[in-house]
Amino acid sequence: MKTLLALNWKMNKTPSEARSWAHELSEKYEPVPGVELAVMAPALSLSVLAANLPAGVGFGGQDVSEHESGAYTGEISAAMLADVGARYVVIGHSERREYHLETDAQVAAKAQRAQANGLTPIVCVGEKLDVREAGKQVPFTLAQLRASLAGVGEDLVVAYEPVWAIGTGKTATAQDAEEMAAEIRETLRELYGEGASEIRVLYGGSVKPDNIAEICGQPNVNGALVGGASLKVPDVLGMNDAL
Ligand code: 13P
Repeated sequence: MKTLLALNWKMNKTPSEARSWAHELSEKYEPVPGVELAVMAPALSLSVLAANLPAGVGFGGQDVSEHESGAYTGEISAAMLADVGARYVVIGHSERREYHLETDAQVAAKAQRAQANGLTPIVCVGEKLDVREAGKQVPFTLAQLRASLAGVGEDLVVAYEPVWAIGTGKTATAQDAEEMAAEIRETLRELYGEGASEIRVLYGGSVKPDNIAEICGQPNVNGALVGGASLKVPDVLGMNDAL
């Protein structure tokens, strides 16, 4: 199982900027054995990435409709993502849950739709600060995980992103990340049996070149989902090389 370095650009970069970023990456990128790099970009930039990323670097969307097609103005379907060559799609990011009121049931429906179209969903879970301060982060996150995976098959990636660590510069310690990743693995084992050992569990939240190695060195952490540090190529190369 390869370590997954998944970049989440969020709502950043025009297609022209995406092209420049991909060209800059192509000039300097050296694949690291055992590490897979993939870019989750705004839908408008995916075709640009398909044409300009170095060989072996994958890409994916940041959200997908739960519906197959039809009268859903503004939505992007899983078939559209698959058609431009996307391998992944981020589903249930805390920013979608917070600003678009996405429920666990919708997350599960989107993940099912993604899988039906050959995409691997990256399903995001994680607690807010008040939950962590009350010491309830494990039961909260596992309940969110179970509900978000209802009816979802085992070809998936789980990203644990404590909301209080996103974009704040506050990182969970490697021990915090491992503790939750091990709990998530146990729940995945209950849901998927032996197949759970093949499901990658990522950590996300203020991951940077100088902390990625320790976090991803934990036994149950199989990669990272990176926001801010994904925007500049030197940071991405630094993280790739650190793994
Ligand atoms: P930051 O790396 O900017 O904290 O964002 C994490 C994240 O939300 C990735 O999906």
